[in-house]
Amino acid sequence: MINIAKPMLGEEEVRAVSEVLLSGKLAQGELVAQFEHRFAEFCGTKYAVAVGNGTQALHASLLATGVRPDDEVITTPFSFISSATSIVHCGARPVFADIDPRTFNIDVGQVEGLITPNTKAIMPVHLFGLPADLKALREICDKHDLILLQDACQAHGARIDGRSIGEFGDLAAFSFYPTKNITTGEGGAIITDDRDIAEALRLLRHQGQKTRYEYAMVGYNYRMTEMAAAIGIEQLKKLHTWTQKRIDNAGFLDEALSFTDHIITPYVPEGYRHVYHQYTVRVQNRDEVVRHVAEREVGVGVYYPMGLHQLGPLAGYCDRSMPETEKAAKVVMSLPVHPGLTDEELATVAEVVKKAVG
Ligand SMILES: *Cc1c(COP(=O)(O)O)cnc(C)c1O
Repeated sequence: MINIAKPMLGEEEVRAVSEVLLSGKLAQGELVAQFEHRFAEFCGTKYAVAVGNGTQALHASLLATGVRPDDEVITTPFSFISSATSIVHCGARPVFADIDPRTFNIDVGQVEGLITPNTKAIMPVHLFGLPADLKALREICDKHDLILLQDACQAHGARIDGRSIGEFGDLAAFSFYPTKNITTGEGGAIITDDRDIAEALRLLRHQGQKTRYEYAMVGYNYRMTEMAAAIGIEQLKKLHTWTQKRIDNAGFLDEALSFTDHIITPYVPEGYRHVYHQYTVRVQNRDEVVRHVAEREVGVGVYYPMGLHQLGPLAGYCDRSMPETEKAAKVVMSLPVHPGLTDEELATVAEVVKKAVG
């Protein structure tokens, strides 16, 4: 079986976790601080705040930037559920803008028309590892005094014109779940250049505690463990190499799948660095092709079979249809692209898809 994702864990991670276990210092401490320092450096931002997972990173980000009940946050309906539920957790309202069919990311042309006096933030998702149009979104946010909060849970190391996505502000939330481009088991982090936001995030994650028994707010326990941080420190050392491998693998698949018009391979705008969390194509007769590919033991994923506005708990937040999202949900198919693939496996993926498409 060629899996759609594979956490890359080796001796270094095993040794690092063993050392933590033997030290007896398991809860947030020096290693979390070290991981934050290195992750901020990797992203080119001043601060990184580590938390327990990507969903917590999104929720804490919204709270730290002042999103409150009845506020609105404009986001995309083509994503993982917690992009939107993190907004609902604040008592705020996700407002969906449909996607650009070429990039699968939020259609920036629709965003300004959705801004109301209650709009507080815009949350683009860099879906599959391709950055959303951050230049346009930055302009809209500056013009309307809105927070730009990036769901970067799939986009570790993504860039536009050589600039890290973190440089476009205001904050970006990452996940280190086992299928993501790097993992800490469960884990997450927020990057920002804003000292006040970083401070608010640190308080929120640790019960609102400033100093012992001095509480600044009603906070949470959103802390990362030392075991997770120890894994993350090792993973970060390899992230550049792994990302390059993902890009190379995607290049191979682009070429191998160019034999037919029935498959549309990923579109990458000029100057964008797509980090291929997923390699996602559009294909006619998707369900049939997926069945054929899966039968031949090639891991294939459908991300996502429905828009967020079509999911039970979120349906009440949207009374319009999202035609491009709904169309994409019917034809997308993701193929293995991870850095653990051998050349032979990659060739097999291409062969199997070729046969399945016919
Ligand atoms: C993985 C993911 C999340 C949530 O991260 P968790 O660590 O699973 O909580 C949120 N948004 C997107 C786009 C994701 O891919």
